Amino acid sequence: MTDLTDIIKPSNVAVITGGASGIGLAAAKHFATQGMNVVIADLGADRLAEAAKAVAAMSGEDRVMAVETDVSDKAALQALERQVVQRFGKVHVLMNNAGIGPETSIFSDDSGWDAILGVNLMGVVNGTRTFGPGMLAHGEPGLIINTGSKQGITTPPGNPAYNVSKSGVKVFTEALEHELRNTKGGKISAHLLIPGFVFTGLTKGDRTDKPAAAWTPEQTVDFMIESIEKGDFYILCPDNDVARPVDERRMAWAIGDIIENRPPLSRWHPDYAERFKAFLEGK
Ligand code: NAD
Repeated sequence: MTDLTDIIKPSNVAVITGGASGIGLAAAKHFATQGMNVVIADLGADRLAEAAKAVAAMSGEDRVMAVETDVSDKAALQALERQVVQRFGKVHVLMNNAGIGPETSIFSDDSGWDAILGVNLMGVVNGTRTFGPGMLAHGEPGLIINTGSKQGITTPPGNPAYNVSKSGVKVFTEALEHELRNTKGGKISAHLLIPGFVFTGLTKGDRTDKPAAAWTPEQTVDFMIESIEKGDFYILCPDNDVARPVDERRMAWAIGDIIENRPPLSRWHPDYAERFKAFLEGK
């Protein structure tokens, strides 16, 4: 169990990257309704201003700070940290959540790979390494929540750079939690948010209506908070299509590729189609 009343409370400070849209914005609003000072870091002055207005409607303008920050730029994250500390003193919740998913393939040009790894992976690594020491040093309890993906665990074919980035976020956040729980006197815990299918800027495309299978960003944030309260590190979100037992079998099959000495991604290999289907059905 994690006592969030000591963390998510008035005057404490939450920093959310990718906070101008989707899951990050829903989290920013949630923290604002609890009276926290909220910092949203994202791209685009107009988008940020609009998001800041929506968050301020929950808590008041003096409790919101919006800073244009490219998380793939370490110096920009360091500048953000200085600004936040100057204005609010301390950080209690860091949510490294900014993410992108342009199409990539193994041999596609460098731009997609560089962008995805820079934002999704190095944004999380550098965000944590920039804010983490100060969060530990002030001695008050806090959270570092990094947004991963099921695609970083079951690694489906389609967008290899995205999978690599999210797999890296998983590994980094696991190591982070190990480090934090072995830090004497430290009161910060780490959590890996693993969303299901969520209707956001990332997944919308041209659609205006939420597909039945998707969760809303708000549902995702509610589940995230409940899970952290329960003490969960892995916040494995279902959606309206995929229940937890299905995710459990998909993950078990993926690690089974190594244990059973199958080819990688055998779930999508025609020779294993029947066996995977039977495994999924519990046979
Ligand atoms: P979103 O597009 O609504 O939000 C992502 C935000 O990140 C945007 O506001 C975007 O401007 C911002 N961002 C992009 N590049 C940035 C940069 N360089 N610096 C700062 N901010 C930047 O999408 P979302 O679904 O809310 O995404 C949030 C996180 O959830 C991402 O890490 C994404 O990979 C992850 N995720 C989403 C889903 C889903 O189904 N939506 C599933 C699994 C994981």
